Amino acid sequence: MEALIAKTAEVLATSKNAIALTGAGISTESGIPDFRSPGGLWTRVDPGEFSIDRFLQNPSRFWRMHLDLKSSGDFDLASADPNPAHYALARMEQMGILKCIITQNVDNLHQRAGSVEVVEFHGNLLRAACMKCRSLEPIEDVEARIESGESEAPRCRNCGGLLKPDAVFFGEAIPSRALMISQVQSQKCDVLIVVGTSLQVYPAAQIPLSVKLKHPPAVVVEVNREPSSLHEQVTDILMIGSAGDILSRLLEALETRVNLH
Ligand code: NAD
Repeated sequence: MEALIAKTAEVLATSKNAIALTGAGISTESGIPDFRSPGGLWTRVDPGEFSIDRFLQNPSRFWRMHLDLKSSGDFDLASADPNPAHYALARMEQMGILKCIITQNVDNLHQRAGSVEVVEFHGNLLRAACMKCRSLEPIEDVEARIESGESEAPRCRNCGGLLKPDAVFFGEAIPSRALMISQVQSQKCDVLIVVGTSLQVYPAAQIPLSVKLKHPPAVVVEVNREPSSLHEQVTDILMIGSAGDILSRLLEALETRVNLH
């Protein structure tokens, strides 16, 4: 592992446009379960519950499930804090090494760790958005309206449209701005660090494929507990283990290198 960390530090330190693609695995050490690991959310919840069709059929049923997941502690994003992996990426941005993070996560933990250039590919579950006028509300306000008995499926205070968590559900399009910035960043990048994602969800999984197809291809570094489904096609440097541990050690190697030069 030490040699792989040293090699990655070298690649990053000499890069011009390094970016990161993160997934649910970067937040498991903050106590938020991922989807596909043993004991992950899919062992407890039917993925179909997160489809837009099911939400529209019965929004109050969705909101009830959302509150149950939160109160059981199974998926309580508001109480989670960033872990050393989030802080390491934030520090790499401050050092001028990492230019942006494209995250599939909806937990806001990169921003809370201090990362500034964050592309929310799948939205953010700490906000609710009106499906008609797109105005935003903190999700805790919507939750409070349900818990107080005001409404089982709250509506927008501006236009009366249905409120939905501002996260991308199955069957919904990726927000166009996030998609556009991700495409531009992927085209420019020379190093892509993939952290904590199984790369089974598209179009996010297209990002590592696209950076290997361009000329010259980017170097892809992968940090995962289990190798991603695309590691044989895309990964140049594979580090298997905890994101918190590996990214902290990588940051240490980068800081040592910067201090020496
Ligand atoms: P996934 O569950 O499919 O895969 C998680 C990956 O992370 C696996 O490869 C696993 O081996 C790895 N992993 C788990 N813990 C790790 C750790 N501590 N260190 C390193 N690697 C670790 O997740 P995905 O690919 O992100 O796809 C799931 C989708 O679900 C995403 O699109 C995301 O929007 C959503 N989701 C988000 C959150 C969140 O915001 N925290 C949580 C669950 C799901």
